[in-house]
Amino acid sequence: MEQYDIMVVGAGSAGLCAALQASYVLGGHRVCLVEKNGMCGGTTTVGGVNFPGIFHVWGRQVIAGIGWELVEQTRRESGKPLPDYLCEYPMAHRHPEYQISIDAVVFACLADERLKAAETVVKFHTMIGAVRECGDSNLVTLCGKDGLYDVAAKVLIDCTGDANLSKLAGAKLNVMDECQPGTFSCYAMGYDYESLDMEELQKNFEKAVEAGEVTYDDLGWNRAFTPAFLKKHGHNSNHITGINAADSVGRTRMEMAGRASLMRLFRFLKKQKGFENLEFKLASSECGVRESRTVQGLQTITVNDYVDGRVFDNAVCYSYYPVDLHDAKQGLVNRKIQPGHVPTVPLGALIPKGLSNFMVAGRILSSDRLANSALRIQATCMATGQAAGAAAALAIKHHCEPADVDLDELRRILQENHAIVPPRE
Ligand SMILES: Cc1cc2nc3c(=O)[nH]c(=O)nc-3n(C[C@H](O)[C@H](O)[C@H](O)COP(=O)(O)OP(=O)(O)OC[C@H]3O[C@@H](n4cnc5c(N)ncnc54)[C@H](O)[C@@H]3O)c2cc1C
Repeated sequence: MEQYDIMVVGAGSAGLCAALQASYVLGGHRVCLVEKNGMCGGTTTVGGVNFPGIFHVWGRQVIAGIGWELVEQTRRESGKPLPDYLCEYPMAHRHPEYQISIDAVVFACLADERLKAAETVVKFHTMIGAVRECGDSNLVTLCGKDGLYDVAAKVLIDCTGDANLSKLAGAKLNVMDECQPGTFSCYAMGYDYESLDMEELQKNFEKAVEAGEVTYDDLGWNRAFTPAFLKKHGHNSNHITGINAADSVGRTRMEMAGRASLMRLFRFLKKQKGFENLEFKLASSECGVRESRTVQGLQTITVNDYVDGRVFDNAVCYSYYPVDLHDAKQGLVNRKIQPGHVPTVPLGALIPKGLSNFMVAGRILSSDRLANSALRIQATCMATGQAAGAAAALAIKHHCEPADVDLDELRRILQENHAIVPPRE
């Protein structure tokens, strides 16, 4: 049977950084990265959200390390220098402009290169089927293209975005009654925005809504026909509401509802003047999921911790994004962070209660709903992934639980790998 020290499940922004960091400490042959898709990046690549943020705020960089280096390399190799306002104080632009738009294909290729160089054992097209404890290890049943097989791993890190591994291991989870909407990104091409008759389009759109041909959600928030979709040529616009996509049943509903939404819009636009040559091109192969489940951890980050910029004693990284809950009923719920403050993530938010040798990273970390709406952002997912990878590797080295690793040693390893760790107060 294959045996590893660490198994990371999910190669999104969190899992990729967790696997690389663990490989840098232990050697890649001791680390296995399991991913259901055929490429790394998760929501960043296959979900079409290829604009990770936020790494800089209040005039300084607050998140660096493995994820940032990949983002920076992606921009460099694409011939796109980083914007020079990133470290400006006071912030000269709105927060979305501090996100870094990257080429998803280049990012995924560079991720492969780094995993290969680190000799991490990568298993694409593989899902998890069961987890059980076995002595001081965990047995994980994986499902590859040829069927089921067991793999042993001492420490598990759940980076699935939906807490799939945590659920199999029996973790306590927070499941949302009604999740924030998903978004199926696509590019709309073949029309000239400047020559469109927006008044006419608005009128026709209202009529089509009344006739049940399209819905307002097909375009996103606005209750009126919004030119944003057309001006941006599609992209991160529509809203797929009322579905929790944590499991395969939910995912299937979400994907099909997402494509149905795109098709309604396509049929509507094709009938409008100026759209005779309209084409929809895939910006993502999957629906982007904003929210499904989080774990109940040893520590839970609350929205007040977040907006007050609480610095936890055992903080492993910073995080910055305004509270950004896309609530289907209330609209966008925003709360700003106190100027000059930068929230932090404690180690305990990455460790589910009641599980041994188990960590999580990325958007499923232990947090209340409003705090999570900010913590789910990619730069934070990358930083929590790197921190979880380092803590898991230290737990292996010292034969202890991830919760008991020496915080100074953890900080040192993270800093040696160029991460920014909040100072202990
Ligand atoms: C529409 C939308 C807009 C957003 N806007 C922004 C933004 O502007 N800026 C920003 O930084 N962030 C944004 N986000 C949030 C951010 O993109 C995500 O929260 C973040 O990428 C999640 O990273 P993750 O690594 O936790 O999970 P994911 O990216 O979801 O990665 C999880 C990985 O695990 C794999 N996986 C899942 N289940 C299994 C399984 N059972 N077995 C094996 N593999 C599995 C998946 O294939 C995937 O690769 C947005 C999200 C959405 C949906």
